[in-house]
Amino acid sequence: MSRTVEKTELSDQDLLRYSRQIMLPQIDLSGQQKLLASRVVLFGVGGLGSTVAMYLVTSGVGRITLVDPDRVDLSNLQRQVVFLSDDIGCEKVSAARQRLTAMNQQVEVRTINSVLSGARLRQVASEADLVVDATDNFSARYAINRACVETHTPLIVGAAIRFEGQVTVFTMKSQSACYGCLYPDQGDLEESCAQTGILGSVAGLVGCLQATEAIKLLLNHGKILSNKILLIDALNMEWHSVRINRDPKCAVCANSKGHA
Ligand SMILES: [Zn+2]
Repeated sequence: MSRTVEKTELSDQDLLRYSRQIMLPQIDLSGQQKLLASRVVLFGVGGLGSTVAMYLVTSGVGRITLVDPDRVDLSNLQRQVVFLSDDIGCEKVSAARQRLTAMNQQVEVRTINSVLSGARLRQVASEADLVVDATDNFSARYAINRACVETHTPLIVGAAIRFEGQVTVFTMKSQSACYGCLYPDQGDLEESCAQTGILGSVAGLVGCLQATEAIKLLLNHGKILSNKILLIDALNMEWHSVRINRDPKCAVCANSKGHA
């Protein structure tokens, strides 16, 4: 495992492509080089993941690994904006890679067309600077959280349903809570958007917030939603954040090395 940030030289094309964010003093040339050397793993290329992937790729995050076992369905297109009608029936990760590479050839897009578990999941998490969880079910979230706890990989979790969204960040450093502290494992009780519906733009909103937190975390700038959950009620446009305390009896992180 190597998380050393290497310097990537910026070409004239890079300077132009990324000029509007290089102008930001928090990013500057060194931040752009850092982004180009960063590696992110994205679980779930759905409504949230489409937006996360597009913004990370257009921002110049150097390598993104897409993990999703599904194929594109007609009912996905209302919110999974990385896909086109012609992608129906194709593997999501392959269709997304094609689109993302067309957006920015400089970014390396890797794909895993399966559900990961166990050692393979841990390995994929350990090779990333951070993990973005944009899946839509508790069992995936618990497995991803556990792998991030065990490998001390920062994790950004998003969820959206109806007009509602949630975003939270677990740095997995000392005193960091984890997803298990927030929602102790009670089986797969999560409602899915297939059952209850979702406004596409709300999924995109949550994805934008995840991408923004990812870039801030990669660059170590600003205040992130660490040990906090942001709750969004888009119907009434009310946002508030709630503190999450680390649970000393958490079944996942209580005994984790580095969390003592
Ligand atoms: Zn925990």
